[in-house]
Amino acid sequence: MNFEKIIVINPGDNYKIIAEIEASTSQEIDQKIMLAHQVFKIWSQYSVHERIKILEKLFKAFDIQRHEIAKLIAIEMGMPISVCSEIDIRVGLNYFQGYLDNAEVWLKQEIVFENATERHTVFFEGLGVVAASIPWNFPFTNFIWAVIPNLLVGNTIVLKHSENCVLTTKLLEKIFLASHILEGVCNFVYGKGHDVGDYLINSNVDMIWFTGSTQTGHHVYQVAASKAIPVILELGGSAPGIIFEDVDIDKVIDLIYVYRFANSGQSCDALKRLIVHESIFDKIVDKLQWLLSTKKVGSPLDITTDLGPIVNKKQLETIQAQVADAIYKGGKIICGGKQPEDLMGSYYEPTIITNISKSMKIYTEEVFGPVLAVLSFKTQQEAIDLANDTIFGLGGYIFSSDKKRAFSVAQKLKTGNIGINKANYVIPQDVFGGYKKSGIGREHGKIGIRSLCQMKLIAEEK
Ligand code: NAD
Repeated sequence: MNFEKIIVINPGDNYKIIAEIEASTSQEIDQKIMLAHQVFKIWSQYSVHERIKILEKLFKAFDIQRHEIAKLIAIEMGMPISVCSEIDIRVGLNYFQGYLDNAEVWLKQEIVFENATERHTVFFEGLGVVAASIPWNFPFTNFIWAVIPNLLVGNTIVLKHSENCVLTTKLLEKIFLASHILEGVCNFVYGKGHDVGDYLINSNVDMIWFTGSTQTGHHVYQVAASKAIPVILELGGSAPGIIFEDVDIDKVIDLIYVYRFANSGQSCDALKRLIVHESIFDKIVDKLQWLLSTKKVGSPLDITTDLGPIVNKKQLETIQAQVADAIYKGGKIICGGKQPEDLMGSYYEPTIITNISKSMKIYTEEVFGPVLAVLSFKTQQEAIDLANDTIFGLGGYIFSSDKKRAFSVAQKLKTGNIGINKANYVIPQDVFGGYKKSGIGREHGKIGIRSLCQMKLIAEEK
């Protein structure tokens, strides 16, 4: 069966077509899955130490080619090259290194009960062939997160990366193959989500790893249920950021910028609803507006660009519709709210909106772009209620110089990950994932890597 081919466009250059890529056929996907099953029998028998030694070669190869990877990402999905090197590539490699450094300890067998006559031990083994379907927003990091932990536990993979970063994926595949890792441990297939992605997750696989929107995740969960196989779902978010009245505003403002506007706001756990104490509301909004006026929206290949284009026209239109809905319902645009006049492509100005009401899409939906809704609160309880008033529960941020108060509020937020002030949870040791509609299961750290395993308990007589 043939599937729809992928037209690769440059969102930063007036949607110019830069490539046409044939999708994998159903026969090719079947063959790759079959190979992954055969190779699993060998790969899963290696020790974790042996797998680490093999994957170290791949780490070096990615590190050497980091600039080529960053350039392709900038061209096809619009992340500014400086942001790409600093965030996507650096963070991805940091996770890769963290996994290599810690996997042996995290996957070591664990005695859970012992007395004079018996010992009970849990062992962590590879689970089988994983179908991985992942998004474009951090093309390199998302790839590392899906592939490396799975390979370290002994799983083999058939991966479909997003159709929005297919040239980058082709380069990652080339680097992977050139690293001479056992053929068939990581197999790449290409195509769109609704056909190739769907065909892949419905195939003969032992587990599904999915990162993407909540809507698609819901469907993927049903597919996994129909096959009774495990699934990890890392989905959308609408992270709240609470600013208490006692903060040093100048210090907080730069963090807000990074948490909301880096990568043009296209991060799953980006700070999407800012909840500010009423006594400093105007000051925060003024300073943020000023900060945004100093940021350059422009070509992703220009090293001085802060914000590149949105990934594609469809995503731009979604953001425009969310902002139009807010304006219609009484939202006040403090800055932005439109495309820059001098740029051709899916560019959008960084936007602040106040006068938020709870029926607005920018309050109820995930906003995957450079748009920040700012609300005010009077009491701590009101801030917590606003923060939790969402179907999502991925990230959360709290800013206060009263560390005790910040910690106590963090315990009341219904989100999987919370950063207080400068402390950031995006490191390989930190387990990551969402409450509510933001996901099922967790990734990273000891807890995340173990969830990719088959766990076996042996109770033995001494
Ligand atoms: P998406 O759901 O449209 O697509 C994600 C991936 O799934 C793509 O590769 C797509 O081709 C594929 N896909 C689509 N339909 C499929 C199907 N029926 N079967 C199998 N695969 C299918 O999401 P997107 O727009 O690419 O990514 C943005 C979303 O991802 C946002 O909601 C963001 O919050 C979320 N995200 C979450 C995390 C996290 O860790 N929680 C990380 C990054 C992005």
